[in-house]
Amino acid sequence: MNILLLGQPGVGKGTQSDLLAQQYHFIKFSMGDILRDEIVKKSPLGEKIAHLVNAGHLVPDDIVSAVVSEFVREHCQENILFDGYPRTIAQAETLDTELATVRSPLTAVMELHLDEQQIIERLRNRRYCPQCGRLYNYMTSPPKHDGTCDLCHVPLRKRNDDDEQVIKKRLTVYNEQTHPLIDYYKAQSIYARIDAAGSQEEVFAHITRIIDAKIDTQ
Ligand code: AMP
Repeated sequence: MNILLLGQPGVGKGTQSDLLAQQYHFIKFSMGDILRDEIVKKSPLGEKIAHLVNAGHLVPDDIVSAVVSEFVREHCQENILFDGYPRTIAQAETLDTELATVRSPLTAVMELHLDEQQIIERLRNRRYCPQCGRLYNYMTSPPKHDGTCDLCHVPLRKRNDDDEQVIKKRLTVYNEQTHPLIDYYKAQSIYARIDAAGSQEEVFAHITRIIDAKIDTQ
C-alpha cells in the first residue's frame, strides 16, 4: 500500500506522516527532508539546489524524479508514504510510471487543507530540532521548555524558507504547480480532502479512517 499526503506548506503533512509511519510501519519518503539533508551536507546536489530551496522555488523535475526512482526501486517491497512528492503533473506521471514498474500503485491521496491565513500563522510559529528533526509549533504543539527540544534539549531552529516572503512564494508555487494534482488524482478516484484545521489527533483520526477502509477492501 502506498499513500500520498498532499497539501500546501505548513498544513501538517510532516507531523501526520511521522505519526502514520509509526502506526502503519510505512517507510516515509519526504523529498523536502532529503533535499535539506543534501544542503546541510554541502554535497554537489546540495550546492546546486540550495538557492532554489531557500527562495521557495521548486527543484527541477529531472533532479527530484531521479531521487524518487531510486527510492521506489530500493523500497518496492515496503509500504511507502510520500510527503512532498509529487508537486507537479510531470512528477506525478513519473511516480505513476515508477510504481507501475514495481506493480504497486498509489492506494490513496489525501490533501490536507487549511486556509492561507492559518498556514502563514503556523509557518511563522514552526520550529524544528536540528538533532532529531522533530517538529514543533509554538501555537499548536509547543516544546515543554522554552525553545528547546523535549528529547534532545538542544535549541530549536526556524527553517530558512519559513521566512515571510519565502512563505508567500511557496504558496504561489503550490497554487500554480501543485494544485492541478487534485484533478489528476480525482480522475483516478483515489483522492480525499481532509480538513487540517482540527487538532493533530482529529486530523490523524480522519486519515486513519480512510487508510483503514482501504486496508479492509484490499
Ligand atoms: P517541503 O519540506 O516539502 O516544504 O519542501 C521544501 C522545499 O524543497 C520546497 O519548497 C522545494 O524547494 C523543495 N522540494 C520539496 N519537494 C519537492 C518536489 N517534489 N519538487 C521540487 N522541489 C521540491
